[in-house]
Amino acid sequence: MASAFTHAIAGVAIGTALGPRHVPTRFWIICATAAALPDLDGVGFWLGVPYESTFGHRGFTHSLFFAALLASIALVAFRDGTADAVPRRLWLAFFLATASHGVLDAMTTGGGGIAVFAPFVNERYFLPWRPILVSPMSVRRFFSARGVAILASELVWVWLPAAVVAGTALLLRRRQAVPARESAARRDRRRPRA
Ligand SMILES: [Zn+2]
Repeated sequence: MASAFTHAIAGVAIGTALGPRHVPTRFWIICATAAALPDLDGVGFWLGVPYESTFGHRGFTHSLFFAALLASIALVAFRDGTADAVPRRLWLAFFLATASHGVLDAMTTGGGGIAVFAPFVNERYFLPWRPILVSPMSVRRFFSARGVAILASELVWVWLPAAVVAGTALLLRRRQAVPARESAARRDRRRPRA
């Protein structure tokens, strides 16, 4: 795994890039939580579920199917008319936030591969490029000299790219918003006064 906080950062960056302009706070909470949630299978790991099982660590909860399922549940829970977005865009943001977890894990230096196509195929996969130092499942082991090296590697390979993606999306959105405001102002000026 990459650390939970790092997964959450990736989820928030994806939400920033794909989410609507005006969303309630819980949109970000859902994106962050969905990106970190697949590691809930760590509970099964401690309870003795074999790593290589479909429901073992990096199994079902790290699959695209789980990401689609979680995105659908999140969309149903989220929709109450407060967001100015089409549902498929919200769904895509939740789906990619969840799926980003497996992609990042597949870029780590250790552990088993990711069951991308579970529960249909239990084959485990890594990406050919794996620059992120794997994070231990034990919190105690994380707070060690190796923990600092892991954070540094996540900073370079996840936090910085996430900041670039979110920053670019915000800049593009602002540039789109300015012409829209200007043309609305021009329309108002042309409108005859009563
Ligand atoms: Zn994971």
